[in-house]
Amino acid sequence: MSLYSQKFYRLLYDWYDSNHRVLPWRETSDPYYIWLSEVILQQTRVAQGLEYYHRFVSSYPTVEQLAAADEDDVLRLWQGLGYYSRARNLHKAARMIVESQKSKVESRDSLFPATFAELRALPGVGDYTAGAIASFAYDQPYPALDGNIYRVLARLFDCDIPFDTSAGKKHFHQLAEQLLDREHPRQFNTSIMEFGALHCLPTSPDCTCCPIRDFCQAHATGTVELLPVRKPRPTLRDRYFSYSIYITPERKTLIHQRTAKDIWQHLYEFPLVEHQTEAEWQAFQPSAVNGDLSPLNFRFSTFTHVLSHQRLHARFFLMPVNELPILRDTITVTWEDLDNYALSRLTIKALEAIH
Ligand code: SF4
Repeated sequence: MSLYSQKFYRLLYDWYDSNHRVLPWRETSDPYYIWLSEVILQQTRVAQGLEYYHRFVSSYPTVEQLAAADEDDVLRLWQGLGYYSRARNLHKAARMIVESQKSKVESRDSLFPATFAELRALPGVGDYTAGAIASFAYDQPYPALDGNIYRVLARLFDCDIPFDTSAGKKHFHQLAEQLLDREHPRQFNTSIMEFGALHCLPTSPDCTCCPIRDFCQAHATGTVELLPVRKPRPTLRDRYFSYSIYITPERKTLIHQRTAKDIWQHLYEFPLVEHQTEAEWQAFQPSAVNGDLSPLNFRFSTFTHVLSHQRLHARFFLMPVNELPILRDTITVTWEDLDNYALSRLTIKALEAIH
């Protein structure tokens, strides 16, 4: 029987009807809300994403309100989610959408981009997000390949091509096109995504009670646990950071904004010294930051923070001082004011540990 037969769709949709989670972005076809949810959910678990989705929807109920916001406010709302370029692109795209609306004011229904090509042209919107918005908001027949769907497809078609290479992406896109229910693209994409998230799990999926196991080639050949295949991981670059957290009796401290084209551009953190080698980092003493500063005492906490291509080794030196030192490009804030700045995830981690 063909994989994309009506029977396959019926079994999948029946499974969805009885098992799916109720999530707010599934209860709407408003492209703005769907776009928000998709950007938030990239690299984020649903439970955490839900909280941020509600924050954004209540702070910026329309794309116009998001476009009118200050970038710093958007970043602050995003704080804790990581991958801040997503928030910056979200904001930039909102401004582009509102700008392009000015030429289409007569027809209020089609103000949000409504074609795959228009969606794909927005900053931060790749094939996946454009396909998701086109199918979820407009019921247009585009695949939306997220990690869950790659896994389900790899198993259904018993395909061991690494899905995260350009050849793999192209191949999986063709498989998704073959499988797509063109009559009901919204229902199909939603169902197969949820099926991957809840049933066809990365390890030990319950194949014995899988409704579509008769269509699953990996189940038939015994390769389920070997799929999907990824390309080998790149080696991570190690970096060594020493942060100085000065704190006066009046609870004042110093922070600075990262401006270089590097990780966490535009975010705030404590004064930083980056070391070239692990040995330099290990030997570092905070008094070396300012020869004339005599910390009364200090203690430090060490963290390892892994990003996609870098592994950061960071020490945070907590230093009670009577007066703040004068350091270039820093600003003085009170401890309570820290909440008003968009801080890097690593800085938040350190603050949580210190409290
Ligand atoms: S049979 Fe197993 S591997 Fe195949 S689709 Fe079902 S749960 Fe996934």
